[in-house]
Amino acid sequence: MSRLLVIEDDATIGDTLRSALTANGYDVRLAVTGRSGLNVARIHAPELVLLDLGLPDLDGFSVCRDLRALLPSTVIVLLTARGDPLDIVSGLESGADDYLVKPFVVVELLARIRAHLRRAGSASGDGDGLRQTVEIGSLTVDAGARRVYVGGQEVELRAKEFDLLSRLASEPSVAIRREDLMADVWDTNWFGSTKTLDVHVAALRQRLRGAAEAAGPDATSALPEITTLRGHGYRMDLPPAKPHASR
Ligand code: CA
Repeated sequence: MSRLLVIEDDATIGDTLRSALTANGYDVRLAVTGRSGLNVARIHAPELVLLDLGLPDLDGFSVCRDLRALLPSTVIVLLTARGDPLDIVSGLESGADDYLVKPFVVVELLARIRAHLRRAGSASGDGDGLRQTVEIGSLTVDAGARRVYVGGQEVELRAKEFDLLSRLASEPSVAIRREDLMADVWDTNWFGSTKTLDVHVAALRQRLRGAAEAAGPDATSALPEITTLRGHGYRMDLPPAKPHASR
């Protein structure tokens, strides 16, 4: 039974969510403040958190960041009354994987939760035992273990960053359309998808570059690039061939 945590101060929404989710077979905890949400998260270690951004005690984005730090592989779905794209980008940058704008339809929420958990479950290796490691230059993506290395050093990635990297690395040098990346990594095309994809690519580039720099000049020069294809999508490019060793 998947463990879910709902952090929502609105009693009507909180109760509705709790009963709908419980009726669908989830083990649900409800917290009505950011602080209690973080405490419950610590004890309960939920696989997925529904987080209302407008909480009475703490800023929703900071709760999101703390949750992410606490539970690196937990799926965080924001519930926001604000449809402001900037809020959504801030939310995703704070570590959220997805969001729903209120008022949302419960069946849609349930479908999203199922998709996220299915993905997280198959990714955690209890699926068909698929174990595939891809090496591109100094980058190694171990899909079976969900681990990424640059120059032999492990890089910590968030769940969606890993999924995105894994998808790009599965077809190096091939242009992949935005719609296909969205469908493969997020299961759906939701409002704001364009920004979400770009935010995740930017974060991924930054993390990989940072890791390569930490690992040394050889790792940096052999790091593949995620190339933006305007109006189309992205492509993972092999690192340029190195000139003959000069030492
Ligand atoms: Ca609220």
